[in-house]
Amino acid sequence: MESDGLAAINNVGYDVKSSLVAVELAARFDKYFATVGIHPHDAKTAKESDYALFEKLVKENDKVVAIGEIGLDFHYDLSPREDQERVFVDQLRLAHSLHMPTVVHLREAYGVMTRLLKENEKYLEYGVLLHCYSGSKELVKEYEKYDLYYSFGGAITFKNAVDKPDVVRACPLDRILLETDCPYMTPVPFRCTTNEPARIGLVADRISDILGLDRHHTETVTYNNTKRFFARMQEYPI
Ligand SMILES: [Zn+2]
Repeated sequence: MESDGLAAINNVGYDVKSSLVAVELAARFDKYFATVGIHPHDAKTAKESDYALFEKLVKENDKVVAIGEIGLDFHYDLSPREDQERVFVDQLRLAHSLHMPTVVHLREAYGVMTRLLKENEKYLEYGVLLHCYSGSKELVKEYEKYDLYYSFGGAITFKNAVDKPDVVRACPLDRILLETDCPYMTPVPFRCTTNEPARIGLVADRISDILGLDRHHTETVTYNNTKRFFARMQEYPI
């Protein structure tokens, strides 16, 4: 792992089963962390007892560093939109009650997300990470009033990502994180193969190009941002 330039890995759940696997991996491997939650695709399956389980996982295991992926996906609409909204807000409030940040998946639902963030502003104080951010630079500006972070993955290396450089540059440098979102979003030149954490360097290279930073600076800044955002990681020597 270190030979790939990785300090730590955060496995992010998308339902109960995958969240439990993430927690199990974090218990087994030193530098693995876990994020637990229900993805908007799975919102229709969410139950009250799932939230109780996430609460227990957060309280019993300090390697659980966030609630996620939660959010809205109106591109695939795999769960009814009203379920997505309800389950997103439920988990936003759950995260707040546990003093935890959230990892948010947001696709083609920017208007509704803006409304929900506004309505739930008091639940955002422990931080919200918009992962694989695909919104506009104008939205970054609009969201300045909230405690939001933005993470970028392999998609910023794709040739069709024409407006992405401007979006990355619109994000404050102290709010940018890197991710792989593996097994998806494999960066160029490895597209169409399974993505893995070791590919993060290609994302760091692209961010460095866009921001005109040397690679080491990008690594330092995004590492520090990651530890600030996922506050529980600070208790571990990574
Ligand atoms: Zn996602």
